Amino acid sequence: MKYIASVSFGKDSLCMLLLLIERGEPIDEVVFYDTGMEFEAIYKIRDRVREELEEKGIKYTELKPEYPFEYTMFEREVKKRDGSKGKGYSWCGGRCRWGTSEKKRIIRKYIKERYGEEYREYVGIAYDEPKRIREDEKKIYPLYEWKMRERDCLEYCYKKGYKWEEDGVELYEILDRVSCWCCCNKNLKELRNYWKYLPRYWEELKRLQSKTERPFRNNKERIEELEERFKKEDKKH
Ligand code: SF4
Repeated sequence: MKYIASVSFGKDSLCMLLLLIERGEPIDEVVFYDTGMEFEAIYKIRDRVREELEEKGIKYTELKPEYPFEYTMFEREVKKRDGSKGKGYSWCGGRCRWGTSEKKRIIRKYIKERYGEEYREYVGIAYDEPKRIREDEKKIYPLYEWKMRERDCLEYCYKKGYKWEEDGVELYEILDRVSCWCCCNKNLKELRNYWKYLPRYWEELKRLQSKTERPFRNNKERIEELEERFKKEDKKH
């Protein structure tokens, strides 16, 4: 039996990986799926962990989407939900999480091709997210078994010296999740913080918005409109 850890280098999967190593649990391979739209902080953590894995002789594999994320977003010929064909799926998130579907498909394909049925996959879902747990004999949820809640995971990573810093800002202080920076699942509070503390990424969101008709937030508000809203709110305070 082979044991594979799927990690995104966010707080939960990183904590899971660090604890698996610390507790001497079997790990044959660590797999990271790089959407190409990760925060720089994620890539920095990846580089640090990769070195540690190398020292320990644990195989590390990086997987990528079939086509660059932005190409699938705006240019690739795709079949829409209504059956029509069009250019790109536009924003990823909400009910149209095409990036997540592709990520799952590519990871599953890779593991199956390499290990057939002889594997177990560690998945970093925290104890306080039981709804995300799926009955699947191939998957193991160590954080759930260890009763590690999201905030325990973050504390553990901090204790081990990992931080998700961008331009002097700790991402977990301003965002609920550190996933793709262009994810349209971001809530209003997170978006306000993007605008305020992460201007580089905000400009990138504006650039992407200029390429698609579909408004970023709930299919209703475009990035420019959000910017106007935040500016007005800021003036009031
Ligand atoms: S984090 Fe958001 S943008 Fe990235 S793949 Fe998942 S749903 Fe899509």
